[in-house]
Amino acid sequence: MSYIKGLKCKECGRKYPEEPLYVCEYCFGPLEVDYDYPEIKKKLTKELIASRAQNLWRYRELLPIDDRPLVGLQSGFTPLIKADNLAQELGVEEIYVKNDSVCHPTLSFKDRVVSVAISKAKEFGFDTVACASTGNLANAVSAQAAQANMKCVVFIPTDLESGKIVASLIYAPQVVVVEGNYDEVNRLCTEVANKYKWAFVNINIRPYYADGSKTFVYEIVEQLGWRTPQHIVVPVAGGSLISKIWLGLHELHNLGLTDDVNTKIYAAQAHGCAPVITAIKENSEVIKPVIPETIAKSLAIGNPADGYYAFKTVMDSGGWGEEVTDEEIIEGMKLLARTEGIFTETAGGVTVAVTKKLVESGRIPEDESIVISITGNGLKTQESVAGKTGQTIKIKPNINSFEAEFEKIK
Ligand SMILES: *Cc1c(COP(=O)(O)O)cnc(C)c1O
Ligand SMILES: [Zn+2]
Repeated sequence: MSYIKGLKCKECGRKYPEEPLYVCEYCFGPLEVDYDYPEIKKKLTKELIASRAQNLWRYRELLPIDDRPLVGLQSGFTPLIKADNLAQELGVEEIYVKNDSVCHPTLSFKDRVVSVAISKAKEFGFDTVACASTGNLANAVSAQAAQANMKCVVFIPTDLESGKIVASLIYAPQVVVVEGNYDEVNRLCTEVANKYKWAFVNINIRPYYADGSKTFVYEIVEQLGWRTPQHIVVPVAGGSLISKIWLGLHELHNLGLTDDVNTKIYAAQAHGCAPVITAIKENSEVIKPVIPETIAKSLAIGNPADGYYAFKTVMDSGGWGEEVTDEEIIEGMKLLARTEGIFTETAGGVTVAVTKKLVESGRIPEDESIVISITGNGLKTQESVAGKTGQTIKIKPNINSFEAEFEKIK
């Protein structure tokens, strides 16, 4: 049974059929999936959700597919970790880490959106999936297209980390390296999508794709015992995850599954690519595009598709935003590893470092509960910390050599 009424323009409300469409032809606003919430409310209970397998499809009534899901049957339901060491280090009462750096199968939050997008692309009858990616999306599309038995073409900018490139190539998609930055890749892909009958997960399938992000916050709320967190810090690239977190919280409340939404949402970006943070600090709803220059390549989108909605989410929730330098990003990665044993990628370093800044500046009170969004895995961005960790010691295979060298560093 499907709970989808169709698509709806986020700006003018005009309705569209359930098709691979993404932009309103009247006002150029983005389209969103329109659900039949009264019907969902009759069916979806905490008990029903709890009875289902621990993957993102346990919230399937709130996801935009008609038939049974085809991929992502092990994706999502990542750990929510109470991070007491980190809390102590930052001088706050309570921090939880939502750890999508271990999401199945490609170790980033993109496995959520791609599970939904590829299931939907199959329903629509596409035989080829594609994407414009800053790295993680290409990994997730490549892996899940392989599982779904579909052809796959992924477009990436030239300067990606080698770990991210290999983690696409291994699944045998066609990887297209575009001589340009992500915003140029995206512009090209919009043209390709108009010409080829491919399912570009973050272009013509975007309304369906984006709803996969909601499961990130459904899980947080469920894992907190159906409580909404007081503060969530979220990394921002295109701005989809952060705006869908806000939507997801309201959906749960409107379905009677949680109390009022009092969650404040904070945007995290790198200093070298912070168009949303600039808008927040200037209180200007016009997002000025920038040319990205940062080691946080997965967040390097200078002209974010949902930048305005990311800005609005932060403002409507009463949150804030902060940006951090490349040095602070590395410190953030090392801090999370040293305190909680979690190796996140540069985007996670951004989130941790921004959280630290927001606490130090008093934007987030010390005595309230914080959730930080860790969205990618550090093994993919090893270049960023090469030479910036402690060093090994080298010894001969005998105890004397060990003790001689160990003496020096004690
Ligand atoms: C894509 C991505 C994000 C954020 O994505 P949005 O485009 O803002 O939804 C955050 N972290 C990582 C690691 C990502 O790959
Ligand atoms: Zn419209």
